[in-house]
Amino acid sequence: MPHKILIIEDNANNSTLLLDILNFHGYEVSVAADGLEGVALARNLMPDLILMDIQMPGMDGMTAGGILNGDPATSGLKIIALTSFAMQGDQEKFLAAGFDGYLAKPINTRELPDQIKQWLSMELPP
Ligand SMILES: [Mg+2]
Repeated sequence: MPHKILIIEDNANNSTLLLDILNFHGYEVSVAADGLEGVALARNLMPDLILMDIQMPGMDGMTAGGILNGDPATSGLKIIALTSFAMQGDQEKFLAAGFDGYLAKPINTRELPDQIKQWLSMELPP
């Protein structure tokens, strides 16, 4: 069974780029365009990994991540923050908010496959 990855990203260029790379590497990929749709899909699919954009219209990534983390049914899902705020200290901010990792945009397409593998094999604290 291929790993399931959910992309939650409002920018179609970014989600298409991620989708193409992850499909190429054999993952089963789903895409949501905002936080509300993303939370619903996450509950349905229970993906092995979620790539969550932070800046989205409607429900943003911080809110959607907080909802998933706060619900015992989905709190065990691995969620990686996708953000263009390439600022020092951001990683700590997102980890403190309950995200399990951080990916800065623009996406480094050469590094992404190894990062995805690392996140998929990462053990989460209980
Ligand atoms: Mg966005």
